[in-house]
Amino acid sequence: MASKRQIWVGNVPIGGGAPVAVQSMTKTETANIEATLEQIGRMHEAGCEIVRCAVPRDQDAVALKTIVERSPVPIIADIHFNHTLALKAIDAGAGAIRLNPGNIGGADKVAEVAERAKAAKVPMRIGVNSGSLPKHLHDLEKRDPVDALVTAAVEFVELMERLDFEDFKVSIKSTNVPNTIASNRLLAEKIDYPIHLGITEAGTKWTGSLKSAVGLGTLLADGVGDTIRISLSTFHAEEEVKVAWEILKALQLRQKGPVLIACPTCGRLQFDMDATVQEIERRLESYVEPIEVAVLGCAVNGIGEASHADFGITGAKNEGLIFANGKAIRKVPQENLVDELFVEIDKSLARDGKVEIDETESAEGAEWLRRIEEENADDLTPEKLAALEAEKARQEDITAPQIDEAVSPVAGRRFARS
Ligand code: SF4
Repeated sequence: MASKRQIWVGNVPIGGGAPVAVQSMTKTETANIEATLEQIGRMHEAGCEIVRCAVPRDQDAVALKTIVERSPVPIIADIHFNHTLALKAIDAGAGAIRLNPGNIGGADKVAEVAERAKAAKVPMRIGVNSGSLPKHLHDLEKRDPVDALVTAAVEFVELMERLDFEDFKVSIKSTNVPNTIASNRLLAEKIDYPIHLGITEAGTKWTGSLKSAVGLGTLLADGVGDTIRISLSTFHAEEEVKVAWEILKALQLRQKGPVLIACPTCGRLQFDMDATVQEIERRLESYVEPIEVAVLGCAVNGIGEASHADFGITGAKNEGLIFANGKAIRKVPQENLVDELFVEIDKSLARDGKVEIDETESAEGAEWLRRIEEENADDLTPEKLAALEAEKARQEDITAPQIDEAVSPVAGRRFARS
């Protein structure tokens, strides 16, 4: 269930039907104001809407004031163990305070922070981590880690409500992806506060992105989660932001900049697809328009499945074709394919998305494509096989196979809690 309540971190709404907000955390020493602001600038450029900064020492809390004043996005102060730092961060103008009520030194300290936050209208993120559950839940954690995580989170929610503080979001984080999924699903059934999603210590850019996409993507597809942070082992926090956006874009929850689609390649490939796709992806990073660009490794299937793309290229040995909205624009020498694709994209964007087509060049390109398709008519490409299967299913009026959960080999074991 999506959260019903909404909080505001600075000017960013979270929960209550607001778009899923992208946030991340600086990796600099917060007291190093210039380095921190420089990193915040790069994160903001990549699309980060809220930035969290670690505040482990007094000098970090002092620096926070300048950082908050000069940051283009709201700043959340990340506090552990020392509640006085939370009080100082509120006074410094933080957009929100993140604290774990279990490690701040007792309910009276939490109450003090809640009182100051309420007076300053500063929301909080209260969270539990699989590595730091309260002592009385350790036995339960051994038997049922998901139950222990959810119990801890709900206890913290009840504590805040007893303190008459309801301006918060909740996070349950674990390094374990199935437990993250199961606990957040359960939490969303129990509370209506906004939920912050993340996988703790997810790993490198490669493994961390995949774990996050699986864990957070599953929850977001269920409608659970109001803001996300991707944690990657890299100093470059903007990389985390880019991954967060790719997850949201893949689920079509939000739109930001271009979408690149590319065939997986196969033995029919006749040019250096890896380098070409990477170059196109790199150049697309500077565009803000939500254009879809397709890259096909060969022309054997025609434009086919990429005909919905705003722009695309299909390559062959010496030549390639640029197309737009399923129609050939012109063929160009292979080595100019990427440059010419961007010439067409730029021309179209300068004309409010209108693509101008020279009918003679388009006809030449279409004829080139038709010839290649004809020469390879008997070639059963992955795309043709998929189309044949779809057509067969349509003729036989077969609907999608139904999965019988009761006989599924993983029935009852999905997101097992032990
Ligand atoms: S047949 Fe399909 S997968 Fe293979 S290179 Fe051509 S477009 Fe790519």
